[in-house]
Amino acid sequence: LKSKLPYVKTTIFTTVGNLARKHNAIDLSQGFPNFEADAKLISLVNQAMEQGHNQYAPMQGYYGLREIISEKIQTLHGHQYHPQTEITITVGATQAIYTAITAFVHPGDEVIVLKPAYDCYEPAIKVNGGIPIFLQLNVPDYKIDWEAFKAKITKKTKMVIINTPHNPSGKIFSENDMLQLQEILKGTNILVLSDEVYEHIVFDGKEHQSASRYTDLAERSFVCASFGKTFHVTGWKIGYCAAPKALMKEFRKVHQFAVFCVDHPVQRALTEYLKNPEHYLGLNDFYQRKRDLFLEGLADSKFKFIPTQGTYFQLLDYTQITQESDEEFAKKLILEHKLASIPISSFNVNNRDDKVLRFCFAKKQETLENAVEILSSL
Ligand code: PMP
Ligand code: GLN
Repeated sequence: LKSKLPYVKTTIFTTVGNLARKHNAIDLSQGFPNFEADAKLISLVNQAMEQGHNQYAPMQGYYGLREIISEKIQTLHGHQYHPQTEITITVGATQAIYTAITAFVHPGDEVIVLKPAYDCYEPAIKVNGGIPIFLQLNVPDYKIDWEAFKAKITKKTKMVIINTPHNPSGKIFSENDMLQLQEILKGTNILVLSDEVYEHIVFDGKEHQSASRYTDLAERSFVCASFGKTFHVTGWKIGYCAAPKALMKEFRKVHQFAVFCVDHPVQRALTEYLKNPEHYLGLNDFYQRKRDLFLEGLADSKFKFIPTQGTYFQLLDYTQITQESDEEFAKKLILEHKLASIPISSFNVNNRDDKVLRFCFAKKQETLENAVEILSSL
């Protein structure tokens, strides 16, 4: 058997999640809420099923949903995506990302990835014969050195992957970051995959800088989004990709044979639910309260941190507690203290030794209080 991905192991989210369950630990590892979604949204799915929307949706997604996504992007970011030709509903952002990479990356093409990075980019590039080119960002602020980024571009660069708000650091790209990226890519044929799954989880009054806001970036970008993150339904696995017509045409060639179409009743329900912008615009405050609760509890602990700017993840630096590696310390936290987190090394370029763990605070108040108690006792 000749593996196409010989170096790939089972994803950290599965291994740590399993270990957490085995040891009955509080689970702040994988990013998902431990509270229920809005009952109204769930009843809209039931209604859609009762109304008979139980057969295949159109390949590109239910048109009404594509229309309301288009309006939403127009209102928030001022860019017009045509629902007929420029938006496709996908099985979560994961499938949008995989599909965009598969549709465009040829063997030998280079794809620039900023590290730390969410773990699904690299295997998708490699299984298509592409070559990931990493730019490692550094603790504690993960600032992007755009000159260093520029130096990574070669004749073979096909695509750049960005992620804002960023998993795992919570960093959000500033307007200046986006303008620099736009300027560097001007006059090239390089595509941008913009992973924006945490678009509605941005704190301290800052604004999400979507690639769709920047005319020259939008022309070369696949904007990937996830309803799982925004509506507390990660198990529904539904999201979308928005991209200019010529890019979307190729994207759909892959999409139609990978999945054909996505869960139909859920698409109908989301269409109704999205009609009320409060359903997503309130998310910033909702999660900021959780972040603040978590960090206030840690103010007197030995952990060092910069409050996360977005996402529902907080990085904690534990250098004042131990010099163990992040994997060892994360394991010890589960086994001895019954608290699960993700070691940052799983997102970094290999062989770094950052003493940092990632904690998900998309949890009930009680869960966060229990976690804080454990962390404060260390
Ligand atoms: N991108 C990032 C940065 C993520 O954290 C996640 C987490 N799920 C995804 C993509 C995948 O989103 P989905 O669950 O909608 O496939
Ligand atoms: N995005 C989630 C995280 O970063 C995990 C999703 C998954 O397990 N694939 O925790």
